[in-house]
This record gives sequence, structure tokens and C-alpha cells, in this order.
Amino acid sequence: MNLALTEEQAMIQDMAKKFADSELAPVAAELDISNDQTLFQSNLSKLAELGFMGLNVKAQYGGVEAGTVAFSLAITELARACASTAVTTSVTNMVAEVIQAVGNEQQKQQYLPKICSGEYKAGSFCLTEVSAGSDPAGMKTTAVKDGDEYILTGSKIFITSGTFAGVFVVWAVTDSDAPKGKGISCFIVEAATPGITIGKCEDKMGQKASPTTEVNFNNCRIPASALMGEENRGFAVAVGELAGGRIGIGSLALGVGLAAMDYARQFVTERQQFGQAIANFQGIQWKLAERYTDLEAARLLLMQAADLKERNLPFGKAASMAKLFAAEKANKACYDALQMLGGAGYIKEYPLERLARDVRITTIYEGTSEIQKVIIARDLLKEVS
Ligand SMILES: Cc1cc2nc3c(=O)[nH]c(=O)nc-3n(C[C@H](O)[C@H](O)[C@H](O)COP(=O)(O)OP(=O)(O)OC[C@H]3O[C@@H](n4cnc5c(N)ncnc54)[C@H](O)[C@@H]3O)c2cc1C
Repeated sequence: MNLALTEEQAMIQDMAKKFADSELAPVAAELDISNDQTLFQSNLSKLAELGFMGLNVKAQYGGVEAGTVAFSLAITELARACASTAVTTSVTNMVAEVIQAVGNEQQKQQYLPKICSGEYKAGSFCLTEVSAGSDPAGMKTTAVKDGDEYILTGSKIFITSGTFAGVFVVWAVTDSDAPKGKGISCFIVEAATPGITIGKCEDKMGQKASPTTEVNFNNCRIPASALMGEENRGFAVAVGELAGGRIGIGSLALGVGLAAMDYARQFVTERQQFGQAIANFQGIQWKLAERYTDLEAARLLLMQAADLKERNLPFGKAASMAKLFAAEKANKACYDALQMLGGAGYIKEYPLERLARDVRITTIYEGTSEIQKVIIARDLLKEVS
């Protein structure tokens, strides 16, 4: 077993860290308050120029083919500085991977270079609906064939980057008579298509610079060639691609958790109470020891899931375990780090208040912690049945 990074993986991790330190960290707190989309998106463009929007995309389509381990490392480094930027990068990479996995040659050539180069500032993954969250197979959006077009009708909610994405990957029901989950198809839809409107932009608890919006399809006509993969087989695509996305979200959670602990570790060496640094107290030391151990275990689970995916081995259970563990432990790390700062942890002048808000969603999006447990248990029981 070799846990050492390759030269390329270490280089990408280092590039992400340098970019995060120089471009993201100085503006993360400001973006949380101002939600300055020009600044936010200019950083996304710079990340695309550096190759971070197509980390696992083949070079022939404009990607850097660095693999899933490098993707995980990069997302963690970006999230240490700015979770909003990290989630946008993670979702955009996931959208590119859906296209690479199930798109035909023409779709790959048409869309992947635009995503990888930053011509499209982001890609959006449109699955969730009002009545279909943890149970996306219950979606109501339809795509009805009409000659050489489909007519898309329905609404997606909570869509990351909905306001500025250049392209949407959209799931819709194409056979309403089929058993649940069997009559759903996957489409690639350009944001400028008539009939698409962007609805409410949510006012969120954290990750505030990343817009989360409704995307409405009002008799939106798309060419039949927008179908990705086989008709009525799209749900399996969503399930498979979400597993990859979970490595991204787990990696993001890890980054936020590490940022919180690194800040608290420094703080406790400087803060004096009872005539000494609070780092001398065992109660503080145990928090440090436990939370860093949790985060290191999360890192190893993420690396394992990423390595399995990279080697084209089954990785769904490993990705769910990694996402579940990383998200829960990163939340705990932010909670304890804030506690170690005492009152300062609750004050906006210090970063813990923002980090604790930014990390909270990681146990919810791309499948809640409860749903990760459903997936893991289903797999475990399948192994004995
Ligand atoms: C900031 C943000 C960004 C997002 N980005 C995207 C995006 O880009 N694209 C997209 O498609 N979606 C996106 N989502 C949607 C997100 O993936 C869903 O919110 C999430 O999957 C949960 O669905 P829900 O909100 O409908 O909760 P529900 O499904 O209503 O769940 C409510 C509660 O019930 C629990 N629950 C549900 N079913 C079970 C069960 N079987 N067993 C035990 N407990 C259960 C859940 O764990 C949860 O605690 C985003 C959401 C947010 C908030």
C-alpha cells in the first residue's frame, strides 16, 4: 500500500493551496457579506485558466486528466479558504464528468471545452425539485417528445450556480407510465434556451457567494440531440454521478474543518487565561487531538473512495462513507473550534462564525447524512443476501 501522492497530485494540491492563499482567503469574508458576483466569478475564471474546472476530464476535451485523487485534494485546499468557490468548482467538475461519462462525441466536443476553459463560468446539476429531494425519483419535471424536439416543463430548486451557469444537466420524466425511477432521462440544456427562467435566489445560512436558485422550464423546447445517454435510463446516471460528487463535497467539508481547527490551534497558543495559554489545559488538548484525528480519518476515507473511482472500481459505498464521515466530523470540528475561541468564536471579526455556517450544509446537499447511511446499509446488506 502506498499512501504517498504522485508528483502530479502533489503539484495540483500545491497549486490549489497557493491560489487559495493568494486569491481566495483574502476575499472570503468579504464575499460572505457583499456577495460580489463579479469578484466571485473572476476567481472562477482564474481557476478555469489553471485547469481546475476539468480536473478529471480528458485532455482532448480541454481537461487536465489529473484524476479523482487530485480533484479531492484540490477541493479541500480551495475549501480551506472559500467554501463558496469550492462548491462551485466541485459541482462544475461533476457536471463535466456527467457529460464525459454519458454524452455522445458531439456533446463532449461541444460542451466540455467551454466548461474546462471557463467560457461557461460554471455548470449546474438540476435534479432536486420541491417534492423530490432525498427521493429524486419522485420528480415531476417532464420532457415530452415533439418531433425532433423535447418540451421541458417543470421547476428545479436549490440549484447551485443557477444564475450564471452556461449549461445545465437536467433530469426529467420521459415515460410517466414507467415504474418509479425507470422513465427518467438526462438532458444537456444551454442556459440561454428560451423558456428557461431563473427564479428565487435563496438567502442562505452559509456559502453565501454561491448562488442557489430555482430553475424553471416553461414549455422549453430543446433539440432531441440534447438527450444524454439512453432515453428513460437517466436516473441511474444521476445516482452514479452523485457518488462522484460526494467525494467533492466530503473533500470540501474536510477543507472547512481543517481551516477551523488550524485557526483554533493557533488561537489557543496565544489566548491566556488563569495565567497561562489555554493550550496548556488538557480539556483543550483533547479537543485538538480528537478533531484532528477525525479529520485525518476523513482524509483517508476520501482518498480511498477517490482511488477506487480513479481505478474504475466500484466506489459508491466508499464515497458515501467518506461523505458521511467527513461532513459530520467537519461539522464537529467547526463546532469545537468555535468553542475553543470562547466569545470570539461567535463574533464575525473572527473566521469561525463563517466557517461554522459554511460547513453546515455539507451534511445535507448531495444526499443528507441519513441518505448516505441508507446507501451504505443497502450495500452492506446486499453483500450478505
Ligand atoms: C445550498 C444548497 C445547494 C444545493 N445544490 C443543489 C444542486 O446544485 N442541484 C440539485 O439538484 N440539488 C441541490 N441541492 C438540493 C439538496 O441536494 C437537497 O436539499 C438534499 O438532497 C435534501 O433534500 P430535501 O432538502 O428535499 O430534504 P428532504 O428530502 O425533505 O429531507 C428532510 C429530512 O428527512 C430526512 N430523510 C428523508 N428521507 C429519509 C429516509 N429515507 N430515511 C431517513 N431520513 C430521511 C433527510 O435526511 C432530512 O433530514 C442543494 C441544496 C442546498 C441547500
